[in-house]
Parts: sequence; structure tokens; C-alpha cells
Amino acid sequence: MNPVERALVLLAAARPGAAAEELAALALGRRDAGLLRLRESIFGPVATAAANCPHCAAALEFTVDIALLATEAAPQDAGGPHRLAKDGFVVEFRLPASADLTAIASCAEAPQARQRLLERCVLETHRDGAPVASEALPEPVVAELAAQIERLDPTIDIQLDLRCAACGHAWPLAFDIAHFLWHEIDALARRLLGEVHTLARVYGWSEADILGLSIARRNYYLEMAG
Ligand SMILES: [Zn+2]
Repeated sequence: MNPVERALVLLAAARPGAAAEELAALALGRRDAGLLRLRESIFGPVATAAANCPHCAAALEFTVDIALLATEAAPQDAGGPHRLAKDGFVVEFRLPASADLTAIASCAEAPQARQRLLERCVLETHRDGAPVASEALPEPVVAELAAQIERLDPTIDIQLDLRCAACGHAWPLAFDIAHFLWHEIDALARRLLGEVHTLARVYGWSEADILGLSIARRNYYLEMAG
């Protein structure tokens, strides 16, 4: 499963009633806000993560304020379409969604991927009132378009400001909620399987019985079994 598919699988768990196409068409910020809230509901509002300092290689543990990121993530006006006017060009566009990332995944070169993304997200382009093709947009207009998309949907690129306690080096670390949550759930599933294994071996209970226990009772029996 690729990262975009993983994000959509997690999102589907958070919104069981939604159609797959609807989820794939959500602006990336909306999608990630949904994933941040899902994370908060399963594991709580604060996450602990680890990284190594790129300067001195010291191991660093830090907390991520999931609740705050969820608040910041939702684009203010995700519905769109949005409009940009620059150098005589008027561009009507929408924000990129998971379906767009899937569509450009097969592009081998970055400029090709960017052009394809542009074609998908730009809805209409006019110059001095006359329609023009999106390929005709000059570089400064395309750059301004990219900047405006990032302003409207800042979670496309969440950066955490880290500082190394050992050497003082500061750097931005990209935080991908889909990737992070996927690994947290994977670790939780493995831990649960381990607990089921332990309790089944000691007490002879079925998997369903063990998973039906409250967390407090399961922990109590695990302590007794250990
Ligand atoms: Zn350091």
C-alpha cells in the first residue's frame, strides 16, 4: 500500500459512512485534519516522537501537540474554488487532494508531476478576459499559485521546529500524520496480539474473550500472568 492509500484507509476508519471517491477528493489539509482528530480520539492529544540531531546525531525525544495541529490543519475555505490574479492572468483553482497525488504518482520527473498537478487543480485560466491553457501560465504566476495553495492549506507540509538539547542545533522536521498514525496503530495491533497470546496461554481464554475485556481488567490479568 502506498502512503496515499494508507492515509485514505485511516480516514475511512474515521468516517465509515463516506464514499471512497469523496474521501479521495478532500483537500489534503481537510484529510490530515481528519487524521489528526482520529489520532487524538485513539491515542490522546499529545504524541511522543523521536529523531536524531542531524548535526551531532544525539537521540532526541519530543512531544507533538496533535490537538493544536488538528486545529491549525483545517483549511479556512477548503471548498473553493479559489482565485488568483497576477500579471493580467486570472486563475481559478482548487486545492490538491489525495486523488491528485495518486494521479501524479506515475510521473517520473518532478517538473512533469508539477505540470500534471497544475492541470488537475487549475479549473480556468484567463488572460485579459480571454481563456488560455494552463500550460501558458508564466513561471511567476505558477510560483504564486504554489505559494497561495500552501497558504490556504498549510498542512500540505507540516514542519516541527526541533532543537537539539546536546548541541543547540535547530532544524525543521517534516511531520506526516498518516505515516505516524499508521505506525502507531501497527504497534498497538502488535502489542494487543502479544497480550492475547500471553493471556490465552496462561488462562486458556479465546481471542474474542480477551479483546472483550476492559483495558484495566486486561492489564490486571497481564500483571497476574507475568
Ligand atoms: Zn545536536
